[in-house]
Amino acid sequence: MSVCQKQRKGLIVENKFVVSLDVGGTKKLAAVVNSTDGIISRLKKQTPEAPTHESFSGSLVELTNEVIQLSGIQPEQVASIAVGIPGSVNMETGIIGMAPNLGLKNYSVQEHLNNRLPYPVLIENDVNLAAAGELAFGAAKGKQNVLVVFVGTGIGGGLILNNKLYRGSGWVAGEIGHINVHEKGPKCGCGRIGCFEALASRTAVVRQITAEIKKGKQSVLKERTEKNKDIKSKAIARALEAGDKLTVKVINQACKTIGRTLAGINNLLNLELIILGGGLMEASESYMLPKINETFYKYSIGDAAKCVSLVGTNLRDDAAIYGGITLTEELLNIKV
Ligand SMILES: [Zn+2]
Repeated sequence: MSVCQKQRKGLIVENKFVVSLDVGGTKKLAAVVNSTDGIISRLKKQTPEAPTHESFSGSLVELTNEVIQLSGIQPEQVASIAVGIPGSVNMETGIIGMAPNLGLKNYSVQEHLNNRLPYPVLIENDVNLAAAGELAFGAAKGKQNVLVVFVGTGIGGGLILNNKLYRGSGWVAGEIGHINVHEKGPKCGCGRIGCFEALASRTAVVRQITAEIKKGKQSVLKERTEKNKDIKSKAIARALEAGDKLTVKVINQACKTIGRTLAGINNLLNLELIILGGGLMEASESYMLPKINETFYKYSIGDAAKCVSLVGTNLRDDAAIYGGITLTEELLNIKV
């Protein structure tokens, strides 16, 4: 056994770990992590469309057991399971209020997982978890007032005020995806019309591109729509790089909506940092961030704009994974 293996084994036997599960609209990430060893194992799986409550919990139990086994740690070293959900989550009752991109509503996920796993289960909104991760380990370290925005299947937000995660009076704070930005806009997964995410998420961008192609517009993405293939963030990024006119037009419009909405939020909160992540942003950050900035400054009150910068996430997919450490330390009052 090498020195390195001995050290690794020594650390693993002594230390406690968090199993972080980041449940997205299209994929689930699982990782075993702590603050001294970092991420020691990870897994990624597709999220099935419109799961039942039972199959949703079952897939999380399976993923937890698989990633623990992959890491080689013992069950007694698991301090907690920290689950990030794309939707509103009541941390007192453990109930998902609304997660439109998972097709879940009023579901007591914590109780179901606690019945099936021998570890403490903690649940939190996914972007709140990412914001906690950015605050302790990423771009928000040392900052007081920060908004984390993830643009992917939907649009989620996590708000840090006075160096602390702000969850609101009814656990809904940060749900920026459902701010109404268009009175007659398209229908959102939440049932309302004209929500921010119904206009500027990847899902919204893909819907607009597909509709234009069906009307006869040319695009490099035409073949994908004809073959009924999913248009993922990477395909959009490639279309942008190729200068595809339709994709450029739709993305430019999405960037304007994002910039305008974030300017309104910043005029209210006077933040010092806005971190932009999520599948669509990360795949096309170099194109989208300057465009968003342009509109953001146009709609910002001068003094509010002076204090703030808009940046990409540096932890990317790992932000919510690291947030599991912060959540465990906060709720279980232990160091991991
Ligand atoms: Zn909505």
